Amino acid sequence: MESVGVVDEAEMLKAIFLPFLSLSHLVPLVDIARIFAMQGVDVTIVTTPGNVAVFQSSIDRDSNRGHSIRTHVVKFPPEAGLPEGMETIRATTPIDVSYKIFEGASLLEGQFRQLLRDMQPDFIVTDMFYPWSVDAAAELGIPRIIYVGGTYMAHCAMDSLERFAPHTKVDSDDQSFLLPGLPHKLEMTRSQIPGRFKVPNHPFADVMKAVKESEKMSYGSVLKSFYDFEGEYEEHYRTVMGTKTWNVGPVSSWVNQDASDKAERGHDKVEQEGKKQDWLTWLDSKKENSVVYVCFGSTINLPAAQLVEIANGLEESGHDFIWVVKKIEASQDDGVGVFLEEFEKRVQGSNKGYVIWGWAPQLAILEHPAIGGVVTHCGMNTVLETVDAALPMVTWPLFSEQFFNEKLLVDVLGIGVPVGSKKWSNWNEYENEIVKREDIAKAIDLLMCGGEENAEMRRKVKALSDAAKKAIQPGGSSYNSLKDLIEELKSLKLQKLNRKLETVA
Ligand code: UDP
Repeated sequence: MESVGVVDEAEMLKAIFLPFLSLSHLVPLVDIARIFAMQGVDVTIVTTPGNVAVFQSSIDRDSNRGHSIRTHVVKFPPEAGLPEGMETIRATTPIDVSYKIFEGASLLEGQFRQLLRDMQPDFIVTDMFYPWSVDAAAELGIPRIIYVGGTYMAHCAMDSLERFAPHTKVDSDDQSFLLPGLPHKLEMTRSQIPGRFKVPNHPFADVMKAVKESEKMSYGSVLKSFYDFEGEYEEHYRTVMGTKTWNVGPVSSWVNQDASDKAERGHDKVEQEGKKQDWLTWLDSKKENSVVYVCFGSTINLPAAQLVEIANGLEESGHDFIWVVKKIEASQDDGVGVFLEEFEKRVQGSNKGYVIWGWAPQLAILEHPAIGGVVTHCGMNTVLETVDAALPMVTWPLFSEQFFNEKLLVDVLGIGVPVGSKKWSNWNEYENEIVKREDIAKAIDLLMCGGEENAEMRRKVKALSDAAKKAIQPGGSSYNSLKDLIEELKSLKLQKLNRKLETVA
Protein backbone atom coordinates (compact mmCIF):
# COMPACT_ATOMS: atom_id res chain seq x y z
CA MET A 1 0.00 0.00 0.00
CA GLU A 2 1.26 3.48 -0.88
CA SER A 3 2.06 5.89 1.92
CA VAL A 4 -0.55 8.61 2.46
CA GLY A 5 2.03 11.30 1.64
CA VAL A 6 2.70 9.84 -1.80
CA VAL A 7 -1.01 9.50 -2.56
CA ASP A 8 -1.58 13.11 -1.52
CA GLU A 9 1.30 14.29 -3.65
CA ALA A 10 -0.07 12.40 -6.67
CA GLU A 11 -3.38 14.22 -6.20
CA MET A 12 -1.70 17.54 -6.95
CA LEU A 13 -1.03 17.63 -10.65
CA LYS A 14 1.17 20.29 -12.16
CA ALA A 15 0.79 20.98 -15.88
CA ILE A 16 2.38 23.18 -18.49
CA PHE A 17 0.40 24.26 -21.54
CA LEU A 18 2.07 25.57 -24.67
CA PRO A 19 -0.40 27.09 -27.17
CA PHE A 20 0.62 27.89 -30.73
CA LEU A 21 1.21 31.50 -31.72
CA SER A 22 -1.90 31.97 -33.86
CA LEU A 23 -5.20 33.31 -32.53
CA SER A 24 -6.98 30.33 -33.99
CA HIS A 25 -5.01 27.82 -31.87
CA LEU A 26 -4.21 30.06 -28.90
CA VAL A 27 -7.78 30.96 -27.95
CA PRO A 28 -9.12 27.36 -27.62
CA LEU A 29 -6.02 25.89 -25.97
CA VAL A 30 -6.12 28.63 -23.33
CA ASP A 31 -9.77 27.68 -22.74
CA ILE A 32 -8.71 24.03 -22.36
CA ALA A 33 -5.94 25.01 -19.91
CA ARG A 34 -8.57 26.89 -17.91
CA ILE A 35 -10.87 23.86 -17.61
CA PHE A 36 -7.98 21.83 -16.20
CA ALA A 37 -7.40 24.57 -13.62
CA MET A 38 -11.13 24.54 -12.80
CA GLN A 39 -10.69 20.84 -11.91
CA GLY A 40 -7.86 21.59 -9.46
CA VAL A 41 -4.81 21.10 -11.71
CA ASP A 42 -2.00 23.62 -11.20
CA VAL A 43 -1.65 25.21 -14.65
CA THR A 44 1.07 27.32 -16.21
CA ILE A 45 0.49 28.64 -19.73
CA VAL A 46 3.69 29.42 -21.60
CA THR A 47 3.68 32.07 -24.28
CA THR A 48 5.65 34.98 -25.71
CA PRO A 49 5.24 38.68 -24.78
CA GLY A 50 3.23 39.57 -27.89
CA ASN A 51 0.57 36.94 -27.17
CA VAL A 52 -0.12 37.59 -23.50
CA ALA A 53 -2.67 40.38 -24.03
CA VAL A 54 -4.94 38.02 -25.98
CA PHE A 55 -5.89 36.04 -22.88
CA GLN A 56 -4.30 37.46 -19.71
CA SER A 57 -7.46 39.14 -18.39
CA SER A 58 -9.26 35.77 -18.26
CA ILE A 59 -6.30 34.18 -16.44
CA ASP A 60 -6.34 37.00 -13.89
CA ARG A 61 -10.07 36.48 -13.37
CA ASP A 62 -9.59 32.70 -12.95
CA SER A 63 -6.78 33.29 -10.49
CA ASN A 64 -9.05 35.65 -8.48
CA ARG A 65 -11.65 32.89 -8.54
CA GLY A 66 -9.14 30.74 -6.66
CA HIS A 67 -7.89 28.63 -9.58
CA SER A 68 -4.22 27.79 -9.61
CA ILE A 69 -3.34 29.23 -13.02
CA ARG A 70 -0.78 31.68 -14.35
CA THR A 71 1.09 32.74 -17.47
CA HIS A 72 4.82 32.27 -17.91
CA VAL A 73 6.34 34.51 -20.56
CA VAL A 74 9.32 33.38 -22.63
CA LYS A 75 11.22 35.44 -25.19
CA PHE A 76 10.09 35.26 -28.80
CA PRO A 77 13.22 33.98 -30.55
CA PRO A 78 15.02 36.97 -32.12
CA GLU A 79 16.56 34.58 -34.69
CA ALA A 80 13.20 34.63 -36.51
CA GLY A 81 14.07 38.21 -37.45
CA LEU A 82 10.75 39.88 -36.63
CA PRO A 83 10.12 43.26 -35.02
CA GLU A 84 9.26 43.14 -31.33
CA GLY A 85 5.65 42.18 -30.66
CA MET A 86 4.99 40.71 -34.13
CA GLU A 87 4.39 37.23 -32.76
CA THR A 88 0.80 36.26 -33.47
CA ILE A 89 -0.65 34.86 -36.69
CA ARG A 90 -3.92 36.67 -37.30
CA ALA A 91 -6.05 37.48 -40.34
CA THR A 92 -3.98 40.44 -41.48
CA THR A 93 -0.55 38.87 -40.94
CA PRO A 94 1.36 38.83 -44.25
CA ILE A 95 2.26 35.33 -45.38
CA ASP A 96 6.06 35.87 -45.14
CA VAL A 97 5.66 37.12 -41.56
CA SER A 98 3.49 34.11 -40.68
CA TYR A 99 6.27 31.79 -41.91
CA LYS A 100 8.69 33.62 -39.62
CA ILE A 101 6.29 33.32 -36.68
CA PHE A 102 6.08 29.60 -37.46
CA GLU A 103 9.86 29.44 -37.45
CA GLY A 104 10.00 31.45 -34.20
CA ALA A 105 7.54 29.01 -32.61
CA SER A 106 9.75 26.05 -33.45
CA LEU A 107 12.74 27.92 -32.01
CA LEU A 108 10.99 28.00 -28.63
CA GLU A 109 12.19 24.45 -28.08
CA GLY A 110 15.33 25.31 -26.10
CA GLN A 111 13.58 27.69 -23.70
CA PHE A 112 10.69 25.26 -23.28
CA ARG A 113 12.93 22.31 -22.48
CA GLN A 114 14.78 24.37 -19.86
CA LEU A 115 11.48 25.45 -18.35
CA LEU A 116 10.38 21.82 -18.04
CA ARG A 117 13.62 20.94 -16.27
CA ASP A 118 13.14 23.89 -13.89
CA MET A 119 9.43 23.42 -13.21
CA GLN A 120 9.21 19.61 -13.29
CA PRO A 121 5.53 19.39 -14.38
CA ASP A 122 3.62 16.10 -14.22
CA PHE A 123 2.41 16.43 -17.81
CA ILE A 124 2.34 18.87 -20.69
CA VAL A 125 -0.37 19.81 -23.16
CA THR A 126 1.14 21.30 -26.28
CA ASP A 127 -0.23 22.37 -29.62
CA MET A 128 0.00 19.98 -32.58
CA PHE A 129 2.47 22.39 -34.22
CA TYR A 130 5.13 21.62 -31.59
CA PRO A 131 6.04 18.05 -32.59
CA TRP A 132 9.40 18.36 -30.80
CA SER A 133 7.57 18.63 -27.48
CA VAL A 134 7.14 14.81 -27.51
CA ASP A 135 10.90 14.47 -26.96
CA ALA A 136 10.91 17.27 -24.40
CA ALA A 137 8.31 15.34 -22.37
CA ALA A 138 10.19 12.07 -22.85
CA GLU A 139 13.34 13.65 -21.40
CA LEU A 140 11.42 14.13 -18.12
CA GLY A 141 9.50 10.89 -18.40
CA ILE A 142 6.13 12.67 -18.38
CA PRO A 143 3.13 12.39 -20.74
CA ARG A 144 2.74 14.80 -23.61
CA ILE A 145 -0.88 15.39 -24.52
CA ILE A 146 -1.26 16.82 -28.00
CA TYR A 147 -3.88 19.48 -28.64
CA VAL A 148 -5.35 18.74 -32.06
CA GLY A 149 -7.32 21.54 -33.72
CA GLY A 150 -10.33 20.72 -35.90
CA THR A 151 -13.05 18.11 -35.74
CA TYR A 152 -12.53 14.37 -35.33
CA MET A 153 -14.45 14.07 -38.56
CA ALA A 154 -11.89 16.17 -40.46
CA HIS A 155 -9.01 14.10 -39.10
CA CYS A 156 -10.80 10.87 -40.02
CA ALA A 157 -11.48 12.22 -43.52
CA MET A 158 -7.85 13.20 -44.01
CA ASP A 159 -6.77 9.79 -42.77
CA SER A 160 -9.11 8.24 -45.35
CA LEU A 161 -7.45 10.32 -48.09
CA GLU A 162 -4.02 9.20 -46.91
CA ARG A 163 -4.94 5.52 -46.67
CA PHE A 164 -7.06 5.10 -49.81
CA ALA A 165 -6.16 8.08 -52.03
CA PRO A 166 -9.63 8.17 -53.66
CA HIS A 167 -8.86 11.62 -55.10
CA THR A 168 -6.20 10.08 -57.36
CA LYS A 169 -8.78 7.82 -58.97
CA VAL A 170 -11.05 10.49 -60.47
CA ASP A 171 -10.60 12.14 -63.87
CA SER A 172 -11.12 15.76 -62.93
CA ASP A 173 -11.08 18.15 -59.99
CA ASP A 174 -14.88 18.43 -60.09
CA GLN A 175 -15.72 14.73 -60.20
CA SER A 176 -16.88 13.52 -56.83
CA PHE A 177 -15.51 10.50 -54.98
CA LEU A 178 -16.45 8.70 -51.78
CA LEU A 179 -14.29 8.98 -48.68
CA PRO A 180 -13.72 5.27 -47.98
CA GLY A 181 -13.90 3.67 -44.57
CA LEU A 182 -15.82 6.39 -42.74
CA PRO A 183 -19.01 5.97 -40.70
CA HIS A 184 -21.06 7.86 -43.35
CA LYS A 185 -21.06 7.86 -47.14
CA LEU A 186 -19.52 11.25 -47.77
CA GLU A 187 -18.62 12.59 -51.19
CA MET A 188 -16.09 15.25 -52.00
CA THR A 189 -14.28 16.59 -55.03
CA ARG A 190 -10.56 17.01 -55.51
CA SER A 191 -11.00 20.78 -55.65
CA GLN A 192 -12.33 20.74 -52.06
CA ILE A 193 -9.46 18.91 -50.40
CA PRO A 194 -6.32 20.57 -48.97
CA GLY A 195 -3.41 21.30 -51.31
CA ARG A 196 -0.98 18.96 -49.55
CA PHE A 197 -2.95 15.96 -50.84
CA LYS A 198 -2.68 17.14 -54.45
CA VAL A 199 0.49 19.14 -54.97
CA PRO A 200 3.79 17.24 -54.94
CA ASN A 201 6.24 18.55 -52.34
CA HIS A 202 3.63 20.88 -50.85
CA PRO A 203 5.39 22.82 -48.05
CA PHE A 204 2.68 21.91 -45.54
CA ALA A 205 2.96 18.17 -46.23
CA ASP A 206 6.15 17.82 -44.18
CA VAL A 207 4.69 19.90 -41.37
CA MET A 208 1.62 17.66 -41.18
CA LYS A 209 3.73 14.51 -41.44
CA ALA A 210 5.69 15.61 -38.37
CA VAL A 211 2.42 16.47 -36.60
CA LYS A 212 0.99 13.01 -37.31
CA GLU A 213 4.15 11.23 -36.21
CA SER A 214 4.25 13.20 -32.98
CA GLU A 215 0.54 12.49 -32.44
CA LYS A 216 1.31 8.76 -32.58
CA MET A 217 4.15 9.17 -30.09
CA SER A 218 2.12 11.31 -27.67
CA TYR A 219 0.34 9.90 -24.66
CA GLY A 220 -2.94 10.93 -26.27
CA SER A 221 -4.82 13.88 -27.67
CA VAL A 222 -7.41 16.37 -26.47
CA LEU A 223 -10.04 17.79 -28.77
CA LYS A 224 -12.69 20.35 -27.94
CA SER A 225 -15.66 18.65 -29.55
CA PHE A 226 -18.38 16.67 -27.72
CA TYR A 227 -19.71 13.16 -28.09
CA ASP A 228 -23.21 13.88 -29.41
CA PHE A 229 -21.77 16.16 -32.07
CA GLU A 230 -19.53 13.61 -33.78
CA GLY A 231 -19.31 10.54 -31.54
CA GLU A 232 -18.95 8.09 -34.45
CA TYR A 233 -15.89 9.97 -35.68
CA GLU A 234 -14.45 10.13 -32.16
CA GLU A 235 -14.75 6.30 -32.04
CA HIS A 236 -13.28 5.97 -35.52
CA TYR A 237 -10.31 8.18 -34.57
CA ARG A 238 -9.77 6.10 -31.43
CA THR A 239 -10.18 2.65 -32.90
CA VAL A 240 -9.25 2.87 -36.58
CA MET A 241 -6.62 5.58 -36.34
CA GLY A 242 -5.45 4.22 -33.01
CA THR A 243 -4.92 7.40 -30.99
CA LYS A 244 -5.95 7.63 -27.37
CA THR A 245 -8.13 10.68 -27.05
CA TRP A 246 -10.21 12.77 -24.67
CA ASN A 247 -13.04 14.87 -26.01
CA VAL A 248 -13.57 17.82 -23.68
CA GLY A 249 -15.78 20.41 -25.38
CA PRO A 250 -17.40 22.70 -25.94
CA VAL A 251 -14.72 24.46 -23.92
CA SER A 252 -15.75 28.01 -24.75
CA SER A 253 -19.01 27.85 -22.82
CA TRP A 254 -17.45 25.75 -20.08
CA VAL A 255 -14.94 28.40 -19.03
CA ASN A 256 -16.40 31.63 -20.37
CA GLN A 257 -19.48 31.77 -18.24
CA ASP A 258 -19.60 35.35 -17.09
CA ALA A 259 -20.07 38.48 -19.16
CA SER A 260 -16.46 39.75 -18.93
CA ASP A 261 -15.06 36.39 -20.03
CA LYS A 262 -17.40 36.34 -23.00
CA ALA A 263 -16.82 39.94 -23.99
CA GLU A 264 -13.02 39.90 -23.77
CA ARG A 265 -12.14 36.44 -25.07
CA GLY A 266 -9.37 36.66 -27.63
CA HIS A 267 -9.77 40.42 -27.77
CA ASP A 268 -6.54 42.41 -27.77
CA LYS A 269 -5.81 45.96 -28.65
CA VAL A 270 -4.16 45.10 -31.99
CA GLU A 271 -7.54 44.04 -33.36
CA GLN A 272 -9.40 47.07 -32.05
CA GLU A 273 -10.28 49.81 -34.44
CA GLY A 274 -11.05 52.41 -31.80
CA LYS A 275 -14.68 52.65 -32.89
CA LYS A 276 -17.35 52.53 -30.23
CA GLN A 277 -19.03 49.15 -30.41
CA ASP A 278 -22.67 49.60 -29.60
CA TRP A 279 -23.81 46.31 -31.05
CA LEU A 280 -25.72 45.35 -27.93
CA THR A 281 -28.08 48.32 -28.09
CA TRP A 282 -28.55 47.63 -31.78
CA LEU A 283 -29.31 43.94 -31.25
CA ASP A 284 -31.64 44.76 -28.36
CA SER A 285 -33.75 46.74 -30.82
CA LYS A 286 -34.19 43.69 -33.09
CA LYS A 287 -36.78 40.92 -33.06
CA GLU A 288 -35.92 37.43 -31.83
CA ASN A 289 -34.10 35.26 -34.40
CA SER A 290 -34.12 38.05 -36.98
CA VAL A 291 -30.40 38.86 -37.37
CA VAL A 292 -27.75 36.89 -39.23
CA TYR A 293 -24.20 37.05 -37.82
CA VAL A 294 -21.42 36.90 -40.42
CA CYS A 295 -17.85 36.21 -39.35
CA PHE A 296 -14.87 34.41 -40.89
CA GLY A 297 -12.89 33.63 -37.76
CA SER A 298 -9.52 34.93 -36.68
CA THR A 299 -7.26 34.18 -39.62
CA ILE A 300 -9.20 34.85 -42.82
CA ASN A 301 -8.58 38.04 -44.75
CA LEU A 302 -10.97 38.15 -47.69
CA PRO A 303 -10.05 39.89 -50.94
CA ALA A 304 -11.69 43.20 -51.84
CA ALA A 305 -13.86 41.61 -54.56
CA GLN A 306 -15.31 39.16 -52.04
CA LEU A 307 -16.05 41.90 -49.52
CA VAL A 308 -18.02 43.75 -52.19
CA GLU A 309 -20.03 40.60 -52.99
CA ILE A 310 -20.77 39.98 -49.31
CA ALA A 311 -21.92 43.57 -48.78
CA ASN A 312 -24.23 43.35 -51.78
CA GLY A 313 -25.39 39.84 -50.89
CA LEU A 314 -26.31 40.95 -47.38
CA GLU A 315 -28.32 43.88 -48.68
CA GLU A 316 -29.94 41.73 -51.37
CA SER A 317 -31.00 39.11 -48.81
CA GLY A 318 -33.15 41.71 -47.07
CA HIS A 319 -32.32 40.25 -43.64
CA ASP A 320 -30.79 42.22 -40.79
CA PHE A 321 -27.15 41.39 -40.11
CA ILE A 322 -24.02 41.89 -38.05
CA TRP A 323 -20.91 41.57 -40.18
CA VAL A 324 -17.40 41.34 -38.74
CA VAL A 325 -14.93 42.91 -41.16
CA LYS A 326 -11.18 42.68 -40.71
CA LYS A 327 -9.05 45.78 -40.76
CA ILE A 328 -8.17 46.62 -44.37
CA GLU A 329 -4.48 47.30 -44.90
CA ALA A 330 -3.73 50.28 -47.16
CA SER A 331 -1.79 47.94 -49.49
CA GLN A 332 -4.84 45.71 -49.94
CA ASP A 333 -7.45 48.43 -50.17
CA ASP A 334 -8.28 48.54 -53.93
CA GLY A 335 -10.85 51.22 -53.11
CA VAL A 336 -12.83 48.81 -50.98
CA GLY A 337 -12.23 50.88 -47.84
CA VAL A 338 -14.33 53.76 -49.20
CA PHE A 339 -16.94 51.31 -50.55
CA LEU A 340 -17.30 49.71 -47.11
CA GLU A 341 -17.51 53.04 -45.31
CA GLU A 342 -20.37 54.07 -47.60
CA PHE A 343 -21.98 50.67 -47.15
CA GLU A 344 -21.74 51.00 -43.38
CA LYS A 345 -23.33 54.47 -43.46
CA ARG A 346 -26.13 53.21 -45.73
CA VAL A 347 -27.02 50.19 -43.59
CA GLN A 348 -26.77 52.23 -40.42
CA GLY A 349 -29.19 54.71 -42.01
CA SER A 350 -31.64 51.98 -42.95
CA ASN A 351 -31.02 50.21 -39.62
CA LYS A 352 -30.58 46.94 -41.54
CA GLY A 353 -27.06 46.12 -40.52
CA TYR A 354 -24.22 46.61 -38.07
CA VAL A 355 -20.56 46.37 -39.07
CA ILE A 356 -18.00 45.37 -36.45
CA TRP A 357 -14.46 46.24 -37.46
CA GLY A 358 -11.66 43.93 -36.36
CA TRP A 359 -12.62 41.64 -33.51
CA ALA A 360 -16.16 40.88 -32.34
CA PRO A 361 -17.14 39.60 -28.90
CA GLN A 362 -18.49 36.52 -30.66
CA LEU A 363 -19.57 34.48 -27.64
CA ALA A 364 -21.65 37.36 -26.30
CA ILE A 365 -23.20 38.08 -29.71
CA LEU A 366 -24.12 34.47 -30.43
CA GLU A 367 -26.14 34.14 -27.26
CA HIS A 368 -28.23 37.24 -27.98
CA PRO A 369 -31.85 36.22 -28.72
CA ALA A 370 -31.99 38.45 -31.80
CA ILE A 371 -29.39 36.31 -33.59
CA GLY A 372 -31.14 33.74 -35.77
CA GLY A 373 -28.32 32.22 -37.83
CA VAL A 374 -24.61 32.41 -38.62
CA VAL A 375 -22.59 32.62 -41.80
CA THR A 376 -19.32 30.84 -41.08
CA HIS A 377 -16.13 29.63 -42.75
CA CYS A 378 -16.66 26.38 -40.76
CA GLY A 379 -13.78 26.99 -38.34
CA MET A 380 -14.20 24.40 -35.62
CA ASN A 381 -14.42 26.93 -32.77
CA THR A 382 -17.15 28.98 -34.40
CA VAL A 383 -19.01 25.83 -35.42
CA LEU A 384 -19.11 24.58 -31.83
CA GLU A 385 -19.97 27.99 -30.43
CA THR A 386 -22.81 28.29 -32.95
CA VAL A 387 -24.12 24.81 -32.17
CA ASP A 388 -23.92 25.61 -28.47
CA ALA A 389 -26.04 28.71 -29.16
CA ALA A 390 -28.56 26.51 -31.03
CA LEU A 391 -28.14 28.38 -34.32
CA PRO A 392 -28.07 26.94 -37.85
CA MET A 393 -25.34 27.98 -40.25
CA VAL A 394 -24.59 29.01 -43.80
CA THR A 395 -21.43 27.02 -44.47
CA TRP A 396 -18.70 28.79 -46.42
CA PRO A 397 -15.47 26.79 -46.24
CA LEU A 398 -12.27 28.31 -47.64
CA PHE A 399 -9.14 26.51 -46.49
CA SER A 400 -7.61 24.23 -43.82
CA GLU A 401 -10.02 21.42 -42.82
CA GLN A 402 -13.11 23.57 -43.37
CA PHE A 403 -14.56 21.62 -46.31
CA PHE A 404 -14.63 18.46 -44.16
CA ASN A 405 -16.41 20.35 -41.39
CA GLU A 406 -18.97 21.49 -43.94
CA LYS A 407 -19.69 17.83 -44.78
CA LEU A 408 -20.31 17.14 -41.11
CA LEU A 409 -22.64 20.12 -40.73
CA VAL A 410 -24.59 19.70 -43.95
CA ASP A 411 -24.54 15.98 -44.85
CA VAL A 412 -24.22 14.31 -41.44
CA LEU A 413 -25.91 16.65 -38.98
CA GLY A 414 -28.30 18.56 -41.27
CA ILE A 415 -27.74 21.92 -39.60
CA GLY A 416 -26.07 23.86 -42.42
CA VAL A 417 -26.98 25.49 -45.73
CA PRO A 418 -24.00 25.50 -48.12
CA VAL A 419 -23.22 28.83 -49.78
CA GLY A 420 -21.75 26.80 -52.63
CA SER A 421 -18.01 27.42 -52.32
CA LYS A 422 -16.29 24.70 -54.30
CA LYS A 423 -12.59 25.30 -54.18
CA TRP A 424 -10.08 24.85 -51.37
CA SER A 425 -7.51 27.69 -51.40
CA ASN A 426 -4.20 28.32 -49.74
CA TRP A 427 -4.46 30.50 -46.64
CA ASN A 428 -5.52 34.04 -47.62
CA GLU A 429 -5.31 33.41 -51.37
CA TYR A 430 -9.02 33.42 -52.12
CA GLU A 431 -9.06 35.62 -55.23
CA ASN A 432 -9.91 32.75 -57.58
CA GLU A 433 -13.01 31.62 -55.74
CA ILE A 434 -15.28 34.60 -55.32
CA VAL A 435 -18.76 33.60 -54.17
CA LYS A 436 -21.36 35.73 -55.93
CA ARG A 437 -23.81 38.04 -54.18
CA GLU A 438 -26.88 36.15 -55.44
CA ASP A 439 -25.59 32.87 -53.96
CA ILE A 440 -24.88 34.59 -50.66
CA ALA A 441 -28.33 36.20 -50.57
CA LYS A 442 -30.00 32.90 -51.47
CA ALA A 443 -28.19 30.91 -48.77
CA ILE A 444 -28.95 33.56 -46.13
CA ASP A 445 -32.57 33.52 -47.14
CA LEU A 446 -32.74 29.73 -46.76
CA LEU A 447 -31.09 30.09 -43.36
CA MET A 448 -33.35 32.82 -42.04
CA CYS A 449 -36.68 32.08 -43.67
CA GLY A 450 -39.40 29.88 -42.20
CA GLY A 451 -40.63 26.62 -43.70
CA GLU A 452 -40.50 22.97 -42.69
CA GLU A 453 -36.90 22.33 -43.80
CA ASN A 454 -35.71 25.31 -41.83
CA ALA A 455 -37.72 24.27 -38.77
CA GLU A 456 -36.19 20.79 -39.00
CA MET A 457 -32.69 22.26 -39.13
CA ARG A 458 -33.48 24.38 -36.07
CA ARG A 459 -34.87 21.36 -34.19
CA LYS A 460 -31.68 19.41 -34.91
CA VAL A 461 -29.35 22.18 -33.81
CA LYS A 462 -31.41 22.80 -30.67
CA ALA A 463 -31.07 19.11 -29.74
CA LEU A 464 -27.31 19.35 -30.24
CA SER A 465 -27.18 22.53 -28.19
CA ASP A 466 -28.98 20.80 -25.32
CA ALA A 467 -26.53 17.90 -25.60
CA ALA A 468 -23.58 20.33 -25.60
CA LYS A 469 -24.80 21.88 -22.37
CA LYS A 470 -25.23 18.45 -20.76
CA ALA A 471 -21.78 17.31 -21.93
CA ILE A 472 -19.95 19.78 -19.70
CA GLN A 473 -22.11 19.23 -16.59
CA PRO A 474 -21.04 16.71 -13.91
CA GLY A 475 -21.84 13.29 -15.35
CA GLY A 476 -21.81 14.59 -18.96
CA SER A 477 -19.57 13.03 -21.63
CA SER A 478 -16.97 15.83 -21.81
CA TYR A 479 -16.96 16.33 -18.05
CA ASN A 480 -16.35 12.62 -17.54
CA SER A 481 -13.74 12.57 -20.25
CA LEU A 482 -11.76 15.34 -18.56
CA LYS A 483 -12.16 13.68 -15.14
CA ASP A 484 -10.97 10.34 -16.59
CA LEU A 485 -7.93 11.98 -18.13
CA ILE A 486 -7.04 13.74 -14.88
CA GLU A 487 -7.47 10.51 -12.89
CA GLU A 488 -5.27 8.65 -15.36
CA LEU A 489 -2.60 11.33 -15.09
CA LYS A 490 -2.75 11.15 -11.29
CA SER A 491 -2.33 7.40 -11.36
CA LEU A 492 0.68 7.75 -13.70
CA LYS A 493 2.18 10.24 -11.27
CA LEU A 494 1.54 7.88 -8.38
CA GLN A 495 3.26 5.00 -10.21
CA LYS A 496 6.22 7.27 -10.90
CA LEU A 497 6.46 8.39 -7.26
CA ASN A 498 6.27 4.80 -6.07
CA ARG A 499 9.01 3.75 -8.49
CA LYS A 500 11.16 6.55 -7.11
CA LEU A 501 10.50 5.41 -3.54
CA GLU A 502 11.39 1.83 -4.45
CA THR A 503 14.69 2.97 -5.96
CA VAL A 504 15.55 4.96 -2.84
CA ALA A 505 14.54 2.12 -0.47
N1 UDP B 1 -13.49 35.09 -32.68
C1 UDP B 1 -14.03 36.13 -31.96
N2 UDP B 1 -14.21 37.31 -32.60
C2 UDP B 1 -13.90 37.51 -33.90
C3 UDP B 1 -13.36 36.42 -34.63
C4 UDP B 1 -13.17 35.23 -33.99
O1 UDP B 1 -14.32 35.99 -30.77
O2 UDP B 1 -14.10 38.60 -34.41
C5 UDP B 1 -13.23 33.82 -31.99
C6 UDP B 1 -14.35 32.84 -32.20
O3 UDP B 1 -15.29 32.95 -31.15
C7 UDP B 1 -13.63 31.51 -32.22
C8 UDP B 1 -12.24 31.84 -32.73
O4 UDP B 1 -12.07 33.23 -32.53
O5 UDP B 1 -13.50 31.01 -30.91
C9 UDP B 1 -12.07 31.52 -34.21
O6 UDP B 1 -11.94 30.17 -34.37
P1 UDP B 1 -12.52 29.39 -35.60
O7 UDP B 1 -12.16 27.95 -35.40
O8 UDP B 1 -13.93 29.69 -35.78
O9 UDP B 1 -11.78 29.98 -36.83
P2 UDP B 1 -10.23 30.18 -37.14
O10 UDP B 1 -9.88 31.51 -36.63
O11 UDP B 1 -9.50 29.07 -36.44
O12 UDP B 1 -10.17 30.07 -38.62
